[in-house]
Amino acid sequence: MIYLQQLSNPITSYQITAVIKSALCVGAGGSSGSLADKPIVRNSEGNLLIPASQIKGRLRHECEKIARGLHWSICDSPNPQTMCPQRAGLIGNFERPEYQVSSDEGNYHCLICQIFGNPVLASRVIFDDLICTEDPDNLPEVLRPGVTINRRRRTAEENKLYFLETSPANTQLRFTGQIHLSGAPSYAGALILAGLQHIHALGASKSTGLGWLHWELPKLPLEQAAWDFLAKGFEQ
Ligand SMILES: [Zn+2]
Repeated sequence: MIYLQQLSNPITSYQITAVIKSALCVGAGGSSGSLADKPIVRNSEGNLLIPASQIKGRLRHECEKIARGLHWSICDSPNPQTMCPQRAGLIGNFERPEYQVSSDEGNYHCLICQIFGNPVLASRVIFDDLICTEDPDNLPEVLRPGVTINRRRRTAEENKLYFLETSPANTQLRFTGQIHLSGAPSYAGALILAGLQHIHALGASKSTGLGWLHWELPKLPLEQAAWDFLAKGFEQ
């Protein structure tokens, strides 16, 4: 059982499951290969998986939005120069007691960095890859044609037809794995669960109907203390 409100360093882990409602881009094919274009890959056993880095990147972004909505000053990721502790060009109330992670002078890190880390502060949350529970032998590969869009010219580029490998449409594929918290602040669990609820799709192609999902998350006791803490963002 998991106790997110624990402040001590033992690792607490809890299981999360993404249920994919529609065909999901697996990322094979000719599109230029940033990780954002490849929300799903296969491991050496052929299982489909959602890389941990996909989940962590999206979740950090959603948690940043929630914290800003609660009036906390939050740095700009992922550029290290605009993240804590540098925060080049950023204005905001970053020197508040909740941001002081040690007694060293000037050692202030925003709430998000205290969970997800930055170049000088270790992440307190570790993500597993989310692995598809369906036997790969039961998953016929589906090829969906696409064209490369030139974003600048807003035109389809000639001769750049490619194929996306997608998971089969109209099945409810389940991808499951764990999140591990170690030494995380008391508000981390509440913020992470809220952030996950804001991820409704993964991958670059959600506008074409790929990758809509919902989450099955652990039932946790309502962490009133965590929300009371987060509400302090309004006390500036
Ligand atoms: Zn920060």
